[in-house]
Amino acid sequence: MVVGSVLATASRRFRDDEALFCAGTGRRFTFGETNRRCNRLAHALARLGLRKPDVVAFLCNNRAEIAETYFALAKAGLIGIPLNYRLAPSEIIKLMTAMGAQALIFADRFSAAAAQAHEALPGVRHWVAIGEAALPTWALRYEDLLAGGEETEPEVEVEEADAFYFNLTSGTTGVPKSYLLTHYNNATIWPNFGPFEPSRRDVVLTAFPAFGRIGFGWISTAAMHGARNVLMDFTPDEALRVVEAERVTMVNLVPTMATMMLAEPSVRSRNLSSVRTVIFAGAPLPASLRERVATEVCPRVSEYYGMQETGVLTASTPEDRVRRPDSVGLPVCFAEVRIERPDGTSAAPGELGEILGRSPSSVTGYFDNPAKTAETFRGGWVHTGDLGLVDEEGYLFIQGRAKDMVITGGQNVHAAEVEEAILRLDGIVECAVFGLPDEFWGERVAAVVVATTAVVSAAAVEAACREHLAGFKVPRTIVLQDEPLPRTPTGKVQKFLLVERHTVRPS
Ligand code: ATP
Ligand code: MG
Repeated sequence: MVVGSVLATASRRFRDDEALFCAGTGRRFTFGETNRRCNRLAHALARLGLRKPDVVAFLCNNRAEIAETYFALAKAGLIGIPLNYRLAPSEIIKLMTAMGAQALIFADRFSAAAAQAHEALPGVRHWVAIGEAALPTWALRYEDLLAGGEETEPEVEVEEADAFYFNLTSGTTGVPKSYLLTHYNNATIWPNFGPFEPSRRDVVLTAFPAFGRIGFGWISTAAMHGARNVLMDFTPDEALRVVEAERVTMVNLVPTMATMMLAEPSVRSRNLSSVRTVIFAGAPLPASLRERVATEVCPRVSEYYGMQETGVLTASTPEDRVRRPDSVGLPVCFAEVRIERPDGTSAAPGELGEILGRSPSSVTGYFDNPAKTAETFRGGWVHTGDLGLVDEEGYLFIQGRAKDMVITGGQNVHAAEVEEAILRLDGIVECAVFGLPDEFWGERVAAVVVATTAVVSAAAVEAACREHLAGFKVPRTIVLQDEPLPRTPTGKVQKFLLVERHTVRPS
């Protein structure tokens, strides 16, 4: 199970079918071309002196070259660092140093960050620029590099236990943690996507950043089945345009993206009839959003649950939705889920506890972080930090993150429950509920609310909560703000930043 073989096989099986369409550049590549380009890049990197297991960082938005780079590194036995392009140059430099990068491949729109890295990292030997922009003197042009490499399959012995790439968690709860994936960890995500398996007729939209694990997971899954991959940098109106123009059949989204797309005026005039399934992951999917997508876009709504460290753990298909609308489904092939009580014993069906996961896609620890590793990877299971329960039939229900529970005066308040109550109010764009330190109550429930109209007041929010919730769950602090909530690149609310902002420190 090595990643490079997937593309090599696809290039024979689906040779002249379109493999990649890049919405930003308008370029299209067949499976045959993609495989040849990846081989060329793999050979060219070897010619530069990069050998297994050297480390190559890449800083690239969603364009064909990011997919090519993943596959080329896989074929060459090189270890990748797909960099989050929203990081500050200083963070990029820190990661490249910590993981020992010897080269950086960057899209020209990130030249400024690359230039800073170049300045700071004289030991990094190779700099490769993707795109047409003027080339810095210290960089090679990606296309020139490809032109100098052979088209044949590289003859590098790559095994499934070999390292494939470093990655970072999303940074929702704090500083992102890094981990190293093997080829095996990556390959086992393919059967995990089984419940949503694309076919050769499918057109898969990858609109969340491909530097994340799920991004390449979908790119490689689509390639495996001969589906066409549409890569784009997400904006809601462009996503709607691309879905219509490319007749996209499978749309993968985090919930925020769907909220944004449905709020877009053009959503009504677009022909979205090609969409056969919308697949969510990454953050809680509010029931109201799920229903809107089902009625306004496509009735087949799926969802899966997992984390970067584990890959996919459970999946809910449209059929599961009928039976258990609010569940994130059943464990996928080879994955296992267990609910643990605080004393470490297994919870009974229906009993709330911490979700533990186990899967061949799981990594076994964080890079260079023994404390977090010991906390999360225990007894052969990944402690997800999420709360949930499993019913008699094995369906998993997520109740939010353990950290997303406010303990006020000894009572547990689930942030998600309060958020649902606030979202029922008209004119609310988004909201986040969290705990703030409180001398008397230990923690106090707080809410930050972003509303579309000035009509929404703190008093109205409070009244809405009082109507639906027990008194102790009603936020004591309600802040209305115009600016959007702080989010990770994949759209998850970074509550730790809100806690920092709204904690009153003794002066
Ligand atoms: P960090 O670990 O850096 O704080 P993160 O946990 O958001 O960030 P990821 O691994 O990308 O990083 O996200 C996994 C988390 O996302 C899960 O632990 C869970 O809290 C949430 N999640 C994923 N899928 C779903 C889902 N379908 N429903 C609800 N929550 C989900
Ligand atoms: Mg996490």
